[in-house]
Amino acid sequence: MDEKLKKYDYLIVGSGLFGSTFAYRAKQEGKTCLVIDKRPHLGGNLYCENIEGINVHKYGAHIFHTSNKKVWDFVNSIVEFNRYTNSPVANYKGRLFNLPFNMNTFYQMWNVTTPEQAIAKIEEQKREAATRLAGREPQNLEEQALLLVGKDIYERLIKGYTEKQWGRACTDLPAFIIRRLPVRLVFDNNYFNDKYQGIPIGGYNKLIAGLLEGIETKTGVDFFENKEYWMGIAEKIVFTGKIDQFYDYRFGKLEYRTVRFEEEIIDNPNFQGNAVVNYTEREVPYTRIIEHKHFEMFGQEVYDCPKTVISKEYSTEWKAGMEPYYPVNDDKNTALYQKYKLLADKEPNVIFGGRLAEYKYYDMAPVIEKALKDAENC
Ligand code: FAD
Ligand code: UDP
Repeated sequence: MDEKLKKYDYLIVGSGLFGSTFAYRAKQEGKTCLVIDKRPHLGGNLYCENIEGINVHKYGAHIFHTSNKKVWDFVNSIVEFNRYTNSPVANYKGRLFNLPFNMNTFYQMWNVTTPEQAIAKIEEQKREAATRLAGREPQNLEEQALLLVGKDIYERLIKGYTEKQWGRACTDLPAFIIRRLPVRLVFDNNYFNDKYQGIPIGGYNKLIAGLLEGIETKTGVDFFENKEYWMGIAEKIVFTGKIDQFYDYRFGKLEYRTVRFEEEIIDNPNFQGNAVVNYTEREVPYTRIIEHKHFEMFGQEVYDCPKTVISKEYSTEWKAGMEPYYPVNDDKNTALYQKYKLLADKEPNVIFGGRLAEYKYYDMAPVIEKALKDAENC
């Protein structure tokens, strides 16, 4: 297509958080954008469907958290956020424990009431593992968990959950995964250490609608069904789909973990009293149950809405045709991604961004940060 016939400054493939944030900034800079998405709706994995007056997170529970004030101010300039604080509960064989691992958990596990007693108990619990390691760095998740919190917590709250989530033995998983969880000697059930946290008031669709206001969008359109046409329609492409697919899988397919959701509407205003309950024993086939109303309804609001919607999450290996969720950042996939990245780095007119195009486990706040940065010189 002749340069002059290019209709837009940017074609943005994917209306998830990366594509929508980029489009917002580009529009502010006076650029014309078209956003296309193959799904029947906008918003990518943030998309919520309103069921019985409740915003149901259709692609898994999303909790916004960040310590970056610029990102927090940015999202709040689009939509106001509520005060939701994630404090999941673990259910192990019918007994409940607070998460992340904190004084409440230690009390529930061992009846200890002071930090000093908790430290003594953890020391006793991890002695065997520490002796076995003899000063060597933990090589896998099991060794790391035993060294962090000892055997009772590992066996009851970590082992079963982790093996279900990742479909691999804890001895075959990297140690760093478990270091993401805080261990605290205070009575604090806040799952995150970040300064800011919440859910958009009115749901995530409001955030996406705010970002894409006044921008042309088309849903139900797969870029690969007419790649040549779409490549010619704009001066530049922002691509947020799968990077291996962009290159026709020429070096092979990148792997993912995926999640299957079983959703139920229940005739009871309050099913489990919390948004997130993890089922940490191996024998329960799902990893957790999400009760969506608790993200946005507090106090009497919970009862003013007579029904509730829950989702059971089953973590499974990804196969072609399934929704790709978590990149598997092992050596094999990382090496494969690097090969695609070398090609991507040489594309003069394509920006690859977001969790599928960068093959990266990305929380929402860093995605926004990266999209704003990439859009700086647009
Ligand atoms: P996506 O949301 O995947 O958007 C990509 C878009 O591109 C999709 O809409 C897709 O349909 C479209 N697309 C792909 N290929 C094509 C094509 N060929 N043609 C047209 N369109 C195409 N982050 C947090 O901060 N807190 C959380 O609590 C949290 N929970 C999560 C839970 C789960 C189960 C998952 C999977 C992720 C979670 N995240 C969470 C991460 C969050 O989802 C991501 O940071 C965010 O969605 C990334 O946005 P994105 O635009 O990169 O990707
Ligand atoms: N984890 C666990 N028990 C829980 C919650 C988490 O063992 O009840 C482990 C699990 O291995 C998980 C890791 O801690 O992958 C990090 O937790 P996070 O909530 O960050 O999970 P992710 O973001 O990977 O889903």
